[in-house]
Amino acid sequence: MERVEWLRAEIRRHNRLYHVEDSPEVSDAEYDALYRELEDLEREHPDLATEDSPTQRVGAEPLEEFEQVRHAIPMLSLANARKVEELREWDARVRRLLGEDEEPGYVRYVTELKIDGLAVSLRYEAGRLVQGATRGNGTVGEDVTQNLRTVRSIPERLDDGPPEVLEARGEVYIPLGGFEEFNRRVESEGKKPFANPRNLAAGSIRQLDPHITAGRPLTVFLYGVGEGGEAYESHSAALAGLKEYGLRANPHRLHDDIESVIQECERWAAERESLDYQVDGVVVKVDSREQQRTLGSVQKSPRWAIAYKFEPLAGRTRLEDVIVNVGRTGAITPQAVLSPVNVGGVTISKATLHNEDYVKDKGILVGDEVVVERAGDVIPQVVRPIPEARDGSEYAFEMPTHCPVCGVEVSRPEGEAITRCVNARCPAQAVERIIHFSTKSAMDVEGLGEKLATRLFDLGLVDDVADLYELRPDQLTPLEGFAEKSAENLVNAIAASKEQPFSRVLYALGIQHVGLVTAGLISARFSGQDLLEGVSAESLAEIDGVGGVLAGSVVGYFELEENRRLVRRLMERGLDFGREEPEAAEGPLVGKRVVVTGSLSRPRSHFVERIESAGGTFTSSVSKNTDYVLAGEDAGSKLAKAEELGVTVLDEAGFAELFPG
Ligand code: NAD
Repeated sequence: MERVEWLRAEIRRHNRLYHVEDSPEVSDAEYDALYRELEDLEREHPDLATEDSPTQRVGAEPLEEFEQVRHAIPMLSLANARKVEELREWDARVRRLLGEDEEPGYVRYVTELKIDGLAVSLRYEAGRLVQGATRGNGTVGEDVTQNLRTVRSIPERLDDGPPEVLEARGEVYIPLGGFEEFNRRVESEGKKPFANPRNLAAGSIRQLDPHITAGRPLTVFLYGVGEGGEAYESHSAALAGLKEYGLRANPHRLHDDIESVIQECERWAAERESLDYQVDGVVVKVDSREQQRTLGSVQKSPRWAIAYKFEPLAGRTRLEDVIVNVGRTGAITPQAVLSPVNVGGVTISKATLHNEDYVKDKGILVGDEVVVERAGDVIPQVVRPIPEARDGSEYAFEMPTHCPVCGVEVSRPEGEAITRCVNARCPAQAVERIIHFSTKSAMDVEGLGEKLATRLFDLGLVDDVADLYELRPDQLTPLEGFAEKSAENLVNAIAASKEQPFSRVLYALGIQHVGLVTAGLISARFSGQDLLEGVSAESLAEIDGVGGVLAGSVVGYFELEENRRLVRRLMERGLDFGREEPEAAEGPLVGKRVVVTGSLSRPRSHFVERIESAGGTFTSSVSKNTDYVLAGEDAGSKLAKAEELGVTVLDEAGFAELFPG
């Protein structure tokens, strides 16, 4: 049947996007609808069922970039119940299979929240973490040990008591607070925010650089034991064990009958938003291990467990208009104005549309009927339009060309998802800029934090950072919380900041992408006056460590008359805009760029250190600007390139001779 084939292809595609690429195109609710339709069709037409149907398989194939891990005991998926009636049917089947339906005996159930994250397995041997893996396709997962070691709630060593081999299984996730903060940061850097905490968690674990993982607010809940599980006579005993060894065990409750289970499911369906992490249901498990063994598994999931899935928090309504919002960092984001709609007990009339590309990619038109979803505390979002409901009056949204708050032309650098207002005096961003300007790593104005900056701005005492230098103690003393002394202290602290070198001043201006290090690089080459007079993006990008995007951002900043005026005012007030003399480097490699390739007798870091201590710069790719290539055994394309360009190639002995370490 054509529909079955279509559904399978579509579900496989979404599986790949979700499980492999961590960037789903449709919401879980929409995916589940396709999946259910396929399941129903396969049930009605058993002749159409095939072994390779997505309904028979777990997850997706592991990525090739990782080492593979074969799970001794498969990591399965779970059967689903949408309605409480399905839980009663499942309970009846469990008891029938255990031979307890005629003569009611004793089946106890455990309930736990179903966390929406990434399933992982943590293998401890003799109490030490030796391997961490993803679920993958259930049989073979990815080795992500190094990444999981960076998750603070995953201990390297367990407290006393675990079996010799303990394979704890659980879900790595990102709490909502951490997710929102992370996305805010991502957005302020002009990058595309993550769609939900699950994708961020999965993407953080399934990537190759543990340093990236370490910077993500990940945590874990463990909800079961694979290998080593025979040591426990019940699931609840296993959870208690995990907790005793110092692992973060998923909280659980025990129930004597299914009605009590149902109450728990309904309670959580109503209260799920009280949690600081996303859950999509309640998992119900038969407690006794012996009964679990008797029940066994079908291909994809155990018979002894079921997931009660919450209703998706989705609704359908009309997109009345799209307005744009200017954030405190200048990011201009489209926002949906909706006909009010009740979604899971909350009336929604506004939702996010993320950015210009999102609206375009999803084909959302103003006037469309749209699907809106809420997930936990995450801001409601428009997930897709319903094109069938169009009557022709709908029209495309256009991103404004000028900031709706200050009227200055907006900019969207190539390769970035976010459109911004880069006017340093735009009132929508003014407070944020004053706060950034005063922070410790920028001008370090003691006593001027977020609260005070907001107050000074609201009172009209300070409109921009240049105004700070005009503040007088007598303007501050009437304010609550200020005495003569503290007012003087603040004014003195502001004046003292004039001593900061130009690199700090440049960083304090808050130019997109300019961090302390890059501000240092730029200030060593150009003065504030140079930048005001116009330095080209090309000459900025010639500075080692300054890329094209950053150069474009600096040029864009100094092109805007509003910003130039601000810089001039800061100059008049005596801030340092003079070029900084770089510290004179010494050594035989000063000004030389060196590439290291092939296998060497010592770790690469050893050679990098030697190059740097000789005043040289270590770079990763060979170009005509490279001075030397240090090539070890089996050097490949970099060596070839060096030879092609005529760059001097040294072996280890030659290197040691020229640059004794
Ligand atoms: P599942 O999420 O329905 O259930 C199985 C998983 O639940 C387990 O592997 C485990 O990781 C997890 N889990 C969380 N808490 C648990 C607990 N306390 N005890 C036991 N297990 C717990 O099934 P699945 O096979 O992982 O994937 C299907 C899910 O993925 C669906 O929710 C579906 O909507 C979503 N999905 C979405 C898309 C999309 O494009 N949006 C695509 C594919 C899958």
